Amino acid sequence: MSRTAFDSPKYKSFQLPGAKPQYNPDRYGQVTHIALDLKLDIPNRICSGTCTTTLNPIRNGITSIVMDAVDMEIISIQVSNEVQKYDYDGKQITIELTNATTIGNPISLEITYKLDKPDRGMYFVQPNEYFPNKPTQVWTQGEDEDSRYWFPCFDYPGQLASSEIRVEVPSSFTAISNGKLENVEDKSDSKIYHWIQTEVHPTYLMTLAVGEFSEIRDEWNGKDITYYFEKGKDHEARLTMGKTPRMVEFFSQTYGYPYAYPKYAQVCVDDFIFGGMENTSTTLLTDRCLIDDRAAIDNLRAETLVAHELAHQWFGDLVVIKHWSHAWVKEGAATYAEVLWLSHEYSSDLGRYYWLGQAREYLDEDSSRYRRPLVTHVYREAIELYDRHIYEKGACVYHMMRTELGDELFFKSMATFLHDNAHNTVETIDLLRAVEKTTGRNLTFLFDQYVYRGGHPDYKVEYSWDNDSKLAKVAVTQTQVNDGVTDGLFDLKIPIGFTTNTINKTFTVRIHQREQAFYFPLESKPDFVSFDVGNNTLKTVELAYPLPELSAQLVQDPDCLSRLNAAAAIAKKGNLEALKTLQKALSTEVFWGVRLEIVEAIATIKLDQVGAVLTQALQDPEARVRRAAIIALADQKTAAAYQSVKAIVETGDPSYTTESSAIAALGTFAMSGLPDAPDESEVLGILKSVLETRDGWNQVVRSGAISALSKMKTSSAALELLQTYTNPAIPQSLRLAAIRALGSISTGQTPPQLEQILNRLRELSCDRFFFTQLAVISSLGQMETTKAIPLLNSFVNLPDGRVKRMAEEAIQRVQRKSGSDASVKQLREELDSLKKDNKTLTSRLEALEAKG
Ligand SMILES: [Zn+2]
Repeated sequence: MSRTAFDSPKYKSFQLPGAKPQYNPDRYGQVTHIALDLKLDIPNRICSGTCTTTLNPIRNGITSIVMDAVDMEIISIQVSNEVQKYDYDGKQITIELTNATTIGNPISLEITYKLDKPDRGMYFVQPNEYFPNKPTQVWTQGEDEDSRYWFPCFDYPGQLASSEIRVEVPSSFTAISNGKLENVEDKSDSKIYHWIQTEVHPTYLMTLAVGEFSEIRDEWNGKDITYYFEKGKDHEARLTMGKTPRMVEFFSQTYGYPYAYPKYAQVCVDDFIFGGMENTSTTLLTDRCLIDDRAAIDNLRAETLVAHELAHQWFGDLVVIKHWSHAWVKEGAATYAEVLWLSHEYSSDLGRYYWLGQAREYLDEDSSRYRRPLVTHVYREAIELYDRHIYEKGACVYHMMRTELGDELFFKSMATFLHDNAHNTVETIDLLRAVEKTTGRNLTFLFDQYVYRGGHPDYKVEYSWDNDSKLAKVAVTQTQVNDGVTDGLFDLKIPIGFTTNTINKTFTVRIHQREQAFYFPLESKPDFVSFDVGNNTLKTVELAYPLPELSAQLVQDPDCLSRLNAAAAIAKKGNLEALKTLQKALSTEVFWGVRLEIVEAIATIKLDQVGAVLTQALQDPEARVRRAAIIALADQKTAAAYQSVKAIVETGDPSYTTESSAIAALGTFAMSGLPDAPDESEVLGILKSVLETRDGWNQVVRSGAISALSKMKTSSAALELLQTYTNPAIPQSLRLAAIRALGSISTGQTPPQLEQILNRLRELSCDRFFFTQLAVISSLGQMETTKAIPLLNSFVNLPDGRVKRMAEEAIQRVQRKSGSDASVKQLREELDSLKKDNKTLTSRLEALEAKG
């Protein structure tokens, strides 16, 4: 069951015009096997061959069958060597069966077809005039409904079948696909790879990747764990994927179900349009995820990406969602798997802090984009569901289930869920059923509040101590808005802890009203209070405690999340004592995540002494803390801060991202408008030299210079430099950063320069590459002129659901921004006219008085 989506006036709608209820189609029967026999003509971007779908009919007398197949050339359709009549409209094939179906007699639908330069589904990557060394590759992407672009199928996740792919490729190429490699047949100048997967899976998880890859072979329990990547990247491939066998072991143990497939391959492909895709036993990864030694200093994204896609082999592939509306079941689990892995591999602190980062991603989307239930079947395209709700909020729901059940029962429930539904499809309810079967616990109350409806509680917590009666008073207010359907209140049991010396006392209270006050008798005044001990509830919290309790919590609370919450609450006090407390904790705190948050908290205090503390934080051993200090210093906009940051730009930093942040900060200093601001031409000189000399891993360092330029909004020289980096010969990630920056810099430019930017974006909007389209949309979405809207409209009718949705949201943004500008302008005009009237009246009054 799922409730309909709601939208309170505070929130924009998730459902855009055209959204409607989406259902799986009726079934003709069970597809038991899909066999593709393909030949690739790579230079001409052609794929041709046959697709044979074996169908076990569910009833007698079916004479017409509709299959999904987009933009193909259908050459012939046969059943048992007999040609069938069909009708094809470019999207679906309607096959008129010569013989009606009979139960118990499976039929094989053999479709001979050809793809000529396909737009979606199958992607051909080739060298071009600007990048002659770009690798030649072919790869596919099925999720969510794009498999129909590369083979005819019943394209929805509710149908599971075994599959095989035979593919003929030039001799120097390797072809990787799902399941087991049955055979490689050598022909004179080509090879035929034959992969067979006997375990059933949905069409969206079928894949093919072809390229001249290097290969590293690891092993887990006798099964091949293979990494495929561009030649010459062996070290990077090891760094990025080398932990896979240990991860396979970890997830096999944690989930209580051993890895289910004959091998696990990861293929790093060029120009991939996602971070990774968990095709059954054959994950495709973007080659941008490959890290080098320097990136490994502070980059967890590669490792968590590998963990995420691997975890899908259980949640998503072994157990398949029956309909996209339940996609959170797999995406939430895979996202939570990142937390599980980091906690296991590094520390529980890192796992907790990483989880908080996920919660914040969701909270940000909830407050700035829209609020929606995790489960909804009302949308235009399934891909719209793939947002921060189903990933990050989904992960938080798994974490809250774990908190509610305890580790032992939670993981036991996950094992039940996997064992009961292995090689089958599930809906959200199956998760609740597995928990109930295993533990007797009914978690519907949790799903009702966090899955079937949008939002989360926002708590304000006040604490005071009454020494006469030895009572601790905790007053809790739920400050979230009424959602228009319910009163918006959450009904949860929250543990509240008191720590005195080393004694901890925890009381669990039910919080279900708008405002509640709780009194706790204690022997003596506690050193500090912990609201939501363990911080396991997805929520926001504002702590209104006295400084001594917050200071004690900042250094004594064993929970890193409580410590960083205390840091934020201390900073709100805004005085010198608060700053001194935070400064002291910064020097003693052992976990870098809390130090980073202390730096961010300090940055919010409006005192002159802050600059010196932040400068000191530039010496922190952890790159991510130094980065936070740099960003905070840029906001200080003082000459001293500029000198400190400039020094980092000159000497560099071991971390790419930290160095990049220092470079990006230069733009803020240049535009600070302060008397001792650095000269614009000095900053431009530095940025130019960075752009010319600091080429490197994923263009991270040079992108810092692009970011700096984007902040120099009134500088025509900055715009000119920026534009040269939007040229097609510029490496992709740097070029994309420059395209996005055009929108940001546009808001301070003169009308002719604005026109110039729009013209450049117009040219770029013709580019068909997915990431260029996103960059152009992002750029236009930052502009404050309605002139951006016609250009954005040109993206609304493109086939990609993500592009379409981003363009529509960008249009709303531009309308809002230019709208508010217009209303400010109108107010100003009205004020001017009032002033004029006032002046006239005053003059007349004075004239009258003079006469009198
Ligand atoms: Zn995923």
